[in-house]
Amino acid sequence: MERPGKIVCVGRNYREHAKEMGNEVPAEPLLFLKPPSAVIGSGAPIELPAGAGRVDYEGEVAIVIGTRLRKAPAAACAAAVRGIVAANDVSAREWQKQDSQWARAKGSDTFLPLGEESRKPRDLAALTLVTRVNGEERQRANTAEMVFPIPDLLSYISRFITLEPGDVVLTGTPPGVGPLAAGDAVEVEVVGHSIVKNPVAAGA
Ligand code: MG
Repeated sequence: MERPGKIVCVGRNYREHAKEMGNEVPAEPLLFLKPPSAVIGSGAPIELPAGAGRVDYEGEVAIVIGTRLRKAPAAACAAAVRGIVAANDVSAREWQKQDSQWARAKGSDTFLPLGEESRKPRDLAALTLVTRVNGEERQRANTAEMVFPIPDLLSYISRFITLEPGDVVLTGTPPGVGPLAAGDAVEVEVVGHSIVKNPVAAGA
């Protein structure tokens, strides 16, 4: 897909993932940004930055915005979805713990593999997400299990940040995250809609 204008991400949106990271489920969605320069397509290598330590995959369903949303109610947000994309919110865990801002932990180059955009599905709350590393399944979840459903997330974001056509929203990862090593192949699939598959390489 074309490079998005901005990428807004949501953390801790599946109860069991919050638990596996030792976090509480937040009362409101936890928001952060990834820069457009982090985006790579299927087939391009995820580069592990030198000195980063543990770098994890996080399979996520990403939403592509079709029409501008500003302080919009959930129903309008559901109608404004243009399509969905399989996404990998690659995360350097030690930097995420050390740094109060996640710019390098979540925003380093190659830290956002995005698949091809698929058309808007009939039901945003019935999507199956699967992550595999070297062909082995590591994450499987359904968007019905989200703490904050997709239209509610978009509505919440639009209270603070105007969402423009082509912007991408990452909706959080389910349990089963884990580290990547050079030589791995990681794929995230929104079953029947979009898939992104990347080799992992040691970076400079
Ligand atoms: Mg994430």
